[in-house]
Amino acid sequence: PGIDPLDQRLTRNLADIRHKLVVMSGKGGVGKSTVAAELAVGLSLAGYRVGLLDVDLHGPSIPRMLGIAGHAEVLTDEQLIKPVIIDEGLKVISVELLMPDKEASVIWRGPMKIGVIRQLMGDVTWGALDFLIIDAPPGTGDEPLTVAQNVEGAKVVLVTTPQEIALADLRKSLDFCRQLDLPVLGLVENMAGLVCPHCGGQVDFLGQGGGQDTAARSGLKFLGRLPWDPKLMAAADAGRLVSLLRRDWGEDAPYRGVVQEAL
Ligand code: ADP
Repeated sequence: PGIDPLDQRLTRNLADIRHKLVVMSGKGGVGKSTVAAELAVGLSLAGYRVGLLDVDLHGPSIPRMLGIAGHAEVLTDEQLIKPVIIDEGLKVISVELLMPDKEASVIWRGPMKIGVIRQLMGDVTWGALDFLIIDAPPGTGDEPLTVAQNVEGAKVVLVTTPQEIALADLRKSLDFCRQLDLPVLGLVENMAGLVCPHCGGQVDFLGQGGGQDTAARSGLKFLGRLPWDPKLMAAADAGRLVSLLRRDWGEDAPYRGVVQEAL
């Protein structure tokens, strides 16, 4: 049987990347993309060479959060896609940077989506990287499955909020990983309370410690947490997330957990 040329490219293309992390969540809106960005920025600041790949076809939010406009450069002859260079050590590509019309919705059937995801993973010229952070579509459907099955040696970073309804979906994602024999690097809790702007006290508006407890119960490593921070949301909306994430998020910053676990 012939070997699919894209399969070959995929293997070759990802061979120079030491750690491939797929960021997954059970449901949308829990901050999966925000956490993927935190990991990418944090790891690049720590001196690693990092790529951030956004394959969330229906809600590609990475370009907006990082303030990347325009289109990715595509070298049509060689069928290669050049990542956008944010700064030394951080390169980004998103499905949105390949779409002619950014406002248009993606209405594709399964095989088309699978093709696009595989192409994104096979054709982007990352060069050598220490970490590739992949922002995968939420849930346990065809799309995260394609990501998981096409990246050899990938490990999963699960993202949840402390709320029970998010934790219930997280357990499904965990089951998905176990059924597919996908190693899980650990769990990140997002929107882990906020600091009251009036009294400075901690407000656990989505419940307390749910992510950390779930990690402990499921035998997962707890990688860290991000508080809910209005500045984070405003920076993401305004395309200034990179500069905000450069500030110190403390001992609990998720990228620190990743450095500890992955290396
Ligand atoms: P997902 O990728 O899971 O759909 P996003 O990362 O797009 O979620 O986040 C959803 C929304 O919540 C965005 O507007 C984002 O800016 C905001 N958000 C995510 N995490 C935080 C946080 N820790 N603090 C404040 N806003 C956040």
